[in-house]
Amino acid sequence: MPTESGRSYLAIPGPSVVPDRVLRAMHRPAPNIYEGELVDMVPGIRRDLRRIARTTAEVAIYIANGHGAWEAALANVTAPGDRVLVLASGLFGLGWGRVAQAMGREVEILDFGPRAPAAPEQIEAALRADRAGAIGAVLAVQVDTSTSVRSDMAAVRRAIDAAGHPALLMVDSIACLGCDAMAMDDWGVDVLLAASQKGLMVPAGLAFLWFGDRADAARGRAEGLGAISPYWDWRPRVVGEPFYRFFSGTAPAHHLYGLRAALDMIFAEGLDAVLKRHARLARAVWAACEAWGAEGPLRLNVAQPEHRSHAVTAIDGGSAKAAMLRDWLEREAEVTLGIGLGMAPAENFFRIGHMGHVNAHMVMGVLGTLQAGLEAVGIEHGPGALDAAARRLA
Ligand SMILES: *Cc1c(COP(=O)(O)O)cnc(C)c1O
Repeated sequence: MPTESGRSYLAIPGPSVVPDRVLRAMHRPAPNIYEGELVDMVPGIRRDLRRIARTTAEVAIYIANGHGAWEAALANVTAPGDRVLVLASGLFGLGWGRVAQAMGREVEILDFGPRAPAAPEQIEAALRADRAGAIGAVLAVQVDTSTSVRSDMAAVRRAIDAAGHPALLMVDSIACLGCDAMAMDDWGVDVLLAASQKGLMVPAGLAFLWFGDRADAARGRAEGLGAISPYWDWRPRVVGEPFYRFFSGTAPAHHLYGLRAALDMIFAEGLDAVLKRHARLARAVWAACEAWGAEGPLRLNVAQPEHRSHAVTAIDGGSAKAAMLRDWLEREAEVTLGIGLGMAPAENFFRIGHMGHVNAHMVMGVLGTLQAGLEAVGIEHGPGALDAAARRLA
């Protein structure tokens, strides 16, 4: 066991910090799975999942992580040989595309690079070029966790509509649901994906798919082609008769108790207040990074604030000393930072997760230990970062 001299802090972009209240809710004997409390609890969870996504659409729950959500989404609305358009602003967009390819889908990729969001003009042009309407779905990632780029999902929908194209809009909000705003119905999202271990503050193990009527009609087509496996099929998972069909088998009872507690916490604080808290904490992180970068190599990966996520921040440390910085924080401060993912060179980068169960003192703790780490490993940096962050919070 590593030594622990105080509370350690896993400041990575998922899994996020699990609140004690969620852990306590999960610490209990296995419940009756035929009737009683567990069975009675699930409709309320499904209702609150809709509230978080701001939708009246259906929601299906899977025992899976985010990769499972990727596969489930594709399995329901596309069949082998179908074409999808992938929007990539980092590793996760490209990863979803690779899954689509491995499932036999024809994949067209619009790669916006690791620092820029999805560009509506390019999406519109790609869809206009598809005169036969072969593209069945646009696969978009709201926040790419590897780069911390946030793309505007309402603008992606407008681009699809401007092209007069019937493609479905499928959005991966796995990194950011409950941190960055989502309005599934207002923004015209057909399928929304999330998982339990990021903004939703529950251990990895639950994946969620919300789907509207147009997406469900596309499922009917895939079913007609015999393309949907019984496990990924979202239909039984929203009918839930008998109860086990909600989960295509045994209910993930302990995760559901944890999720119930997490949803209670979110709605007790208020969804708008939760989103505001994330915005405020993210701005404190950015302010510190900008001050450090004023005299030295450290840079925020995303230059424009409006394209940055409120859930995660990717930082270019300017040299391989960034890896030493991460090591120093791990060893000397018991703070774990996210590794560089999908960036070149990856060892120059690190990421700070500020999603879910996070408050001002936790963020100031990360920033304060980063300040010490910069000194310790000798990365040149500008003064006043902690003052700047404190001013943002004050
Ligand atoms: C974390 C994440 C995933 C993958 O989730 P896993 O649970 O690790 O499979 C996919 N997309 C995004 C945007 C993510 O942040």
